[in-house]
Amino acid sequence: MNDRLAALSQSAKQELESAVTPDAVEALRVKYLGKKGELSAILGGMGKLSPDERRELGAKANALKTDLETKITAAITRVQDLALDAELKGAKLDVTLPGRGRSGGHRHPVSQTLEDICAVFARLGFVVEQGPEIELDWYNFEALNVPADHPARDMQDTFYVDGGTLHAGFARETPVVLRTHTSPVQIRTMLGQKPPVRAVMPGRVYRKDSDQTHTPMFHQVEGLLVDTKVTFAELKGTLDAFAKAFFGAKSKTRFRPSFFPFTEPSAEVDVSCVFCSGNGCRVCKQTGWLEVLGSGMVHPNVFRHAGYDPAQVTGFAFGMGVERLAMLRYGIDDLRTMFENDYRFVAQF
Ligand SMILES: [Zn+2]
Repeated sequence: MNDRLAALSQSAKQELESAVTPDAVEALRVKYLGKKGELSAILGGMGKLSPDERRELGAKANALKTDLETKITAAITRVQDLALDAELKGAKLDVTLPGRGRSGGHRHPVSQTLEDICAVFARLGFVVEQGPEIELDWYNFEALNVPADHPARDMQDTFYVDGGTLHAGFARETPVVLRTHTSPVQIRTMLGQKPPVRAVMPGRVYRKDSDQTHTPMFHQVEGLLVDTKVTFAELKGTLDAFAKAFFGAKSKTRFRPSFFPFTEPSAEVDVSCVFCSGNGCRVCKQTGWLEVLGSGMVHPNVFRHAGYDPAQVTGFAFGMGVERLAMLRYGIDDLRTMFENDYRFVAQF
């Protein structure tokens, strides 16, 4: 039996050394140390031996088992290293490839345009004022001289948050709306300070509109200048300076009579087409002009609501759609792409 143990030790050692895959090592473990393996077979024959012989042989068998377990563990490590070496040699690992750059974030074209508009007016001495997006009907309509039966107050156009409750400082119930324009910030600004006022008011506005040229939420920048003896000529000069700063020094402006409840007189402002320089193209519908702004002299009723005396002060106001200016500036033809948050779109600007 001693001879059988010695032979087993010898052959196991040789076979383990020549094994080159994890499967082969596992097969050898089963062959020598498994329940039906060769070592078990030898130990199974020990019943015929004397107690002394059994003790001696048992000790040897245990020593051999420990020795084989150590050799199997070593063999597993060795074949795993072999597999890794083979993998590294086989794969084409090009260490000269440049690393993959991580692309940085981009500001949205609407944000960029909004900041650029405010920056132009900041150079003209305007400060930035902000107001709430959830607004009382009084600030959004009534104080701006929009009468109760005006079409702009129609449920079709305005998101009403509630039908009207009593709010602090108001004699009667007033509904809460999502502001339909940034103009209520004019009222809040005038109520909060004495003239002169020179401010731009950027922000989100909401209307029940959704098609290729309208979205339920969009951005406006409102402007307000109030002082003694402010004239329409100053309004024209200010907006012409803005157009030249924003669209380019060669841009021209023209003012067309219009109507807004909160200004009198009122004017739509066109800028010479940025795509054809005024020669006529598809975007400007061959007119050479693009409508970009609404403007006018502040209506006396608006001053009265804001606590200013229309006999003492005059002023002008204007408003523009930020998405429209961004589309003209970057040549974007579908408004909805602005709100799809597709990174491939944003990354272009
Ligand atoms: Zn054109």
